[in-house]
Order: sequence, then structure tokens, then C-alpha cells
Amino acid sequence: RLSWFSEGSFSWPSEDEPVEKARPVQILVVNDDHTFELDEEALNKILLSDEVRDREVVALSVAGAFRKGKSFLMDFMLRYMYGQELNTWLGHYDEPLTGFSWRGGSERETTGIQIWSEVFLVDIPSGEKVAVLLMDTQGTFDSQSTIRDSATVFALSTMISSMQVYNLSQNIQEDDLQHLQLFTEYGRLAMEETFQKPFQSLIFLVRDWSFPYEFNYGLDGGTKFLEKRLKISENQHEELQNVRKHIYSCFTNISCFLMPHPGLKVATNPNFDGRLKEVDEDFIIQLKVLVPWLLCAENLEVKEINGNKITGRGLVEYFKAYIKIYQG
Ligand code: GDP
Ligand code: MG
Repeated sequence: RLSWFSEGSFSWPSEDEPVEKARPVQILVVNDDHTFELDEEALNKILLSDEVRDREVVALSVAGAFRKGKSFLMDFMLRYMYGQELNTWLGHYDEPLTGFSWRGGSERETTGIQIWSEVFLVDIPSGEKVAVLLMDTQGTFDSQSTIRDSATVFALSTMISSMQVYNLSQNIQEDDLQHLQLFTEYGRLAMEETFQKPFQSLIFLVRDWSFPYEFNYGLDGGTKFLEKRLKISENQHEELQNVRKHIYSCFTNISCFLMPHPGLKVATNPNFDGRLKEVDEDFIIQLKVLVPWLLCAENLEVKEINGNKITGRGLVEYFKAYIKIYQG
């Protein structure tokens, strides 16, 4: 009767070992009254599991205004992390995209941080096996009060991650840099004073880049473009110089990647479900460069705080300590 039942691969989970599907877990919520809540139980479950608690962690976060394709991108990162053979990780052209929830429409989402419930164990060139954590954030950036909330989300995700992807639409504008200054200042204040730079890698990811004839898509064009944008010169207004100096003083590594527009179906079709066949080829070409560049074993950066490598257990402690500061 039930043909799939007799295939042999399926068995009912017994009551004491429920099978849980990997999924996004909201670990930080910003409430409407601007208070914060950390779901410690959820966080513990993921970071204090046998496989993770004593392992060094790599935490990659994607942050920036909402509705700019962050979750859409994270789902491709998931495909990469799950993909066994490197050349096929991207999946079939006719396969809907799943993972972190991404969607059309302009409705607001919960402000906060989600992490993928499954932490990936990866062998890095040093011979160690590290735990890779993927974090998706939601900020709104649409009014003064929500900018404060977004600043906290951004600050926390920057403090917790070793690789922060700052997702921007179309360009790197002066106010994107000012926001970054505000957010990182917020984070830095909460941390111990040291001689080291407080944060590790910052990756500016510019979506819908439309000037490839000036700066090529990808890392090459991105590097040149960033150099121009972050340049400090004497005849610049002092405020502009300060923003740039601040950003340089906060991160050990700063890079930039220019992504093409994914095409009108992705941007405007309400029935689009993430199938690659409806995504522009230029976008796919760069996706195949971007995701492995971020997540290949050679480029994974272990989280460090004050020069010490951090384990799953350590990260939980820092998370709790940092959130207390913002809760006042
Ligand atoms: P998030 O709020 O930043 O996480 O954005 P989502 O990933 O939920 O995507 C919001 C909308 O933007 C969806 O309709 C996506 O299909 C679309 N989208 C995804 N990537 C891009 C992109 O690179 N450019 C544009 N213009 N739209 C995108
Ligand atoms: Mg999202």
C-alpha cells in the first residue's frame, strides 16, 4: 500500500530519539518594545553538542538591511556545505531553493539572528576539524528606533562571527559606511579594550552591481572598487576620513565582492521558488565563485577573541556576556 514504506531505508524514529530536521533557529529576537531575548536553550543545544563544544568554531554571518537577498544567498551556502562533490554542489537547475526562509513581498520580518541548527565539521589545512556555524540576521534600518535595534543585531553578529558579510544593494554608499561605523562602535564599546583589532574579516558584498565595465564582477573588481571607496586622502572632509579610519581599525581583513543582478524573475516574480533555471547566468557564474571563496576549507577563519581561538563552549559564554551588556 505504502510503497515508500517497504523500500527499507525508512524507519520510524523511536520516542527517545526524535529525528530533527536541520532548520534555521531563531536564537535572538528583538521585541517590538526594543528589548532583546536570547534563546539560551536553543543556543546551548547547538553549540554545546558533543561534536561542537570543544571544537574551534568558524562563524559566518550575513548582515545588512532586509529584503536584499541575504537569506537567498545563505541557502546556496547551505547547498555548498551539504554538497559532497564540489562540482555539483549548486544543484539541479529545476530544484526549488530551501533552507533559511527567503521570500518576496515587502513585509517586515522579525529582527534578530537565526543560526542553522546543523553545525558543519570541516577539516582545515592545519589538520584540525573545525565547526562551521552559519548565521543569518534580520535588521530593518528603516527608522531611528529600528536603526538602534539593527545596530545591536549587527554589533552582536559582528562580535560573534569570524567572517561578517555586509550585504549591500547596488553600491557602497557613504551612509552604509556610517552605519557600519555606528554598528561596530556599538560592538567595540561592549568589548574589552585591547591592542588588537576587535573583529576579524569583513566582506562587503555588493548585490545588483551594474557597472561591470568600470569594475568587474567578483573579487578582482571588488578589491579595486573597495580601494577607491575606502581611500583616505588629506583633502577629504574630516568626517569621511574618520569613518574610514574607524573601519580599518576594527577589522583585520576587509574585502569586497561585486555580484551581478540575478534577473527580473528573482527580483519581481512572486511565484519564484529559487530554481536556478530562472536565475541569470551571470549571477550563477559569480555564485560559483563567491560561495566556495567564502567557505572552502582553506579560507575558513576560526573565531578569535583577544588572540585566542574560541570553541563552541566559549562562543556560548561570549554570546551570553555580550547580550547582557545590551540588556543594560
Ligand atoms: P533578506 O531579507 O535580505 O534575507 O532577503 P531575501 O533573501 O528574503 O530576498 C528578498 C527578495 O529578493 C526575494 O524576492 C529574492 O528573490 C530577491 N533576491 C534575492 N537575491 C537577490 C539579488 O541579488 N538581487 C535582487 N534584486 N533581488 C534578490
Ligand atoms: Mg532574510
